[in-house]
Amino acid sequence: MFKKILNKAVKTHNLNIEEIMFLLKVEEKNFKVLCSMANRVRQEYLGNNVHMRGIIEFSNYCSRSCKYCGLRKENKEPERYRIEPDEIINLGIYAGKIGYKTIVLQSGEDNYEADKIEYITKKLKKEADVAVTLSLGERDFAEYKLWKKAGADRYLLKHEIADKDKYNNLHPGMSYEERIKRLRWLKELGYQTGSGNIIGLPEQNEETIAQDIELFKDLDLEMIGIGPLIAHGRTPLKNVENGSVKMTLKTMAITRLLLPQAFLPSTTALNSLDSRGRQKGLQAGANVIMPNITPPEYRSLYEIYPGKRPPEGKIKNEYIETKTMIESLGRKVASGYGHIKKD
Ligand code: SAH
Repeated sequence: MFKKILNKAVKTHNLNIEEIMFLLKVEEKNFKVLCSMANRVRQEYLGNNVHMRGIIEFSNYCSRSCKYCGLRKENKEPERYRIEPDEIINLGIYAGKIGYKTIVLQSGEDNYEADKIEYITKKLKKEADVAVTLSLGERDFAEYKLWKKAGADRYLLKHEIADKDKYNNLHPGMSYEERIKRLRWLKELGYQTGSGNIIGLPEQNEETIAQDIELFKDLDLEMIGIGPLIAHGRTPLKNVENGSVKMTLKTMAITRLLLPQAFLPSTTALNSLDSRGRQKGLQAGANVIMPNITPPEYRSLYEIYPGKRPPEGKIKNEYIETKTMIESLGRKVASGYGHIKKD
């Protein structure tokens, strides 16, 4: 049965929900076969390249109440910060000089002024020779359009869990329809669009994860972020068990088989739970790494989940260390922007 489903996935890149659920349950030997098959498919479609995207967490202000996230507005502990445009631009230019070909700008749902984002995007595109990815949460169509016109290449907005009631329960005041609507807008505007889920949310099971994977296909996403939940002590989910590294890897591997050309990061969250998490992800279908290039003084304040910061925060050292890790797997750091081309 396992062999039959795996072959079907490799040949057709299509599985029904029961077949995906079957693969999500595999253990031991078949788990390893699943990951190595995903690794092979990644090699065949995307080659040896690993794309390094430098992420700047430019504001931790947030107006939302996501039950798992340490940035939620009810958490009064972290001092809130907002990095000004020129500091972000200078950082991006510096990262570009080090070798980063993509700068990712991420924040809480801060309502950071749209024209400032436009200005930052334009400047980075002009002065830094980088692709620009935005990840600012839910905004208006007109704002997404403005930033696209300014030169933004990609947008990340994770759907988190593909179940309307469970989504709405985990995100008070938000709605699943609004989230999905925005993902469709982003596609329509021509962004390379990324979404993704969290593994280990309460009430999640193999069926909801299979629905997540079906949604990735349905939206025809260019980028897919799959990461484990890490319980944050100052959120309503503080007592929930962390997500499983193994389930995260299985989800990544199946996603790779079904969307062979998508760009998949091996997430920082995976590495927080397993010291070889990034390597394991890269060998289970991933082809992207997103090192943090936020200035050290802000890093401890951008606590989506606990314990995610390397203590030192020297951007150049982290670039070199990550490159060494990538090369130790027989892979290489991609030299292009890593735009997602589909045929
Ligand atoms: N405000 C932006 C960025 C959110 S932070 C937005 O809404 O898109 C980026 C991602 O971190 C989220 O999409 C979520 O998937 C992840 N995240 C948040 N809290 C987490 C936690 N405790 N454990 C693991 N991942 C988490």
